[in-house]
Amino acid sequence: MSARAKPEAKQRPQAGGGGELSLIQHIDARAKGAPSPGLRLGIGDDCAILRSRPGEEIVVTTDLSLEGRHFRRDWHPAASIGHRALARGLSDIAAMGARPLAAFLSLALPAAVAQNALWLDSFLDGLLTLAKLHGVPLAGGDTSEAPGDTVLADIVLLGAAPAGRALRRSTAHPGDLLYCTGALGGASAELAALAANPQSLATAKPDGTHPHLFPRPRLAVGQTLLRKKLATACIDLSDGLSTDLAHLCEASGVAAEIDAHALPLHPLTEGGLLAALNGGEDYELLFTARPSTRIPRSIAGVPIIRIGRITAHRPRASLMALIDPEGRRTPLQPRGWEHFRKA
Ligand code: ADP
Ligand code: MG
Repeated sequence: MSARAKPEAKQRPQAGGGGELSLIQHIDARAKGAPSPGLRLGIGDDCAILRSRPGEEIVVTTDLSLEGRHFRRDWHPAASIGHRALARGLSDIAAMGARPLAAFLSLALPAAVAQNALWLDSFLDGLLTLAKLHGVPLAGGDTSEAPGDTVLADIVLLGAAPAGRALRRSTAHPGDLLYCTGALGGASAELAALAANPQSLATAKPDGTHPHLFPRPRLAVGQTLLRKKLATACIDLSDGLSTDLAHLCEASGVAAEIDAHALPLHPLTEGGLLAALNGGEDYELLFTARPSTRIPRSIAGVPIIRIGRITAHRPRASLMALIDPEGRRTPLQPRGWEHFRKA
């Protein structure tokens, strides 16, 4: 080995302690990954430069993660906070059937957090591990000291979809069947466990068994639904099935019925049906398909479950109804999760 010191540029800058510039240098050094075909220029200039393919349109989503609202530093491991911030945006991209092009991260950090190299590195670990899994580069952002003691992380995601074909929530028709991916109610169950004993989940890993701390956005499913023209409409389940289905119904001008016995309950769920309907933050996909379309039992390894149907919306009738195994109907109200309502 040469006795020479490593060139400056190759040294990994330390997180924290060195002000905004060294913080950005640190993020830049950590974000460098495999070259991404859609990214001409990443972190370092006034703007990033992206390249889309001919015949594609750009989709954009932004998601704010605010301490005390979307996470708590005394409950959530830093890696989970980074993972979840990105997962929320990726789930929106998945719901449109798009492929992610690049992520942008705007951070406001209290001085004490900016100087806490351990916290910051774990946050970046969580965010960048998920980014790498989906091949999405961190291509820029903004960094500021927060005036108070709360962390704010805003994620902007850009994606691409074939022109005119991005999946929407406004295009479901009466007669369509209703499907969801994966399982429901797991995230709210894990959040309750976290609230009861935050330390018990301090070492949780993104291994697919932590629906609240490390949700898995369904990008491959969304892209398959679009590519194979399987879905007529799609939305991601961020607020809870009852609330997100109401969004889809309102946007499409339709009503819906859910078969209570068909709902896939996550194994962590103890609240049963109510958790599946109202739990929120499962980041599964909810989509509709024509009854003549054959929907596979699983897509990209993710189970697909038929949970109901779209009906015509009648004035004065409830937008949504729950059907029990005997065929009895009860009106269903949107009662999705509100983050930390009582915290
Ligand atoms: P400007 O003042 O021109 O906006 P900045 O000093 O804010 O530039 O940022 C310099 C570069 O670092 C830009 O490419 C910007 O996108 C990137 N950047 C700043 N903050 C972050 C962050 N939190 N995550 C990723 N990239 C960042
Ligand atoms: Mg800036």
